[in-house]
Amino acid sequence: MDLELLKDLCDTPGVPGLEDKIAKIVQNNILKLCQSHEIDAMGNNIFRVNKKIEKAPTILVDAHMDEVGFLVSNIESNGMIRVIALGGIDPKLFYGQRLSIWGKKPIEATVAAIPPHISNKSDAVTQVEDCIIDTGLKYKDVIKFINIGDQVTFSTKCEIGYDRVLSKALDDRVGLFVLIEAVKVLSKKKLNCNFIASASVQEEMGLRGARIINSRVNPDFSVALEGTVSNDLIGVASYKSLASLDNGPEIRISDKYLIADRKLNSFIESIAKKKKIPYQLTAKNAGGTNSTAFQVTGNGSKATVLSVPVRYLHSPSSICKIKDIKNTISLLVEIVTKINTFKNVG
Ligand SMILES: [Zn+2]
Repeated sequence: MDLELLKDLCDTPGVPGLEDKIAKIVQNNILKLCQSHEIDAMGNNIFRVNKKIEKAPTILVDAHMDEVGFLVSNIESNGMIRVIALGGIDPKLFYGQRLSIWGKKPIEATVAAIPPHISNKSDAVTQVEDCIIDTGLKYKDVIKFINIGDQVTFSTKCEIGYDRVLSKALDDRVGLFVLIEAVKVLSKKKLNCNFIASASVQEEMGLRGARIINSRVNPDFSVALEGTVSNDLIGVASYKSLASLDNGPEIRISDKYLIADRKLNSFIESIAKKKKIPYQLTAKNAGGTNSTAFQVTGNGSKATVLSVPVRYLHSPSSICKIKDIKNTISLLVEIVTKINTFKNVG
């Protein structure tokens, strides 16, 4: 595994609609391994990994390139900046954070934390769009480098070691990493299916990119790769802890917008058991992934979600385990290798 690549994916900015830098990294890593590549009108990158085989099933494996973040919405006469959030971000996590503003050149800023001596002691959480973003620069310098619409991310850097990853944007750069590493392995194998890999845009804004992929690819099967919520903490009831770190990839049964294909899930479980790859099943009624779009757009597909468990999703610092990443790659490789043996029975 190329863990430097994972660090690069996590540290590179790519909020919804501004995924170009991430797309470049994906292309640099797998373009030469694939038969063809297209970029659709929205910016989804779609790779045909192996040569087309007539009458063989087609499997689409997707990871989204965007991360939750912010856009500059206003620059005030004193040089202070306001932003809006793109994707689900808890405003409680925002106050006092360091941010990177990706303007003409990257500028570091802080979400102004009013000292307790002069704050009005209100317990109410300040909404993201009401917070003041302070670069410490004069107005004339701010407008030299920063424009309305520039992307803003948490400035925390990815750290890898002790069998764990601590980073922003693990949703879904860890999924993208799994996809790239699996393509590296699978491109060397003789496959009996048509394997299409997509790196999609704007998932965090309502699965927007994924909605136009199915009609182009027309897959029989689809797997959305994700970093998924783990809440495996002491004090959290076990029925609310969802996927746990170190217990292998999560195979999703349901979420708020998906009932995954039961037969496809059973098929994946049987492969995992045979290959002794740990996995965990989750049935929940919250959250959603691109899988929903792949299941119900175009002609539909047998859809599921395979995820690396991640603590503190959508925060400046999430945590996942290297062991879980490895097991997710191994399981995905087995799924694509064997998908031609899937039987729609049982
Ligand atoms: Zn995601």
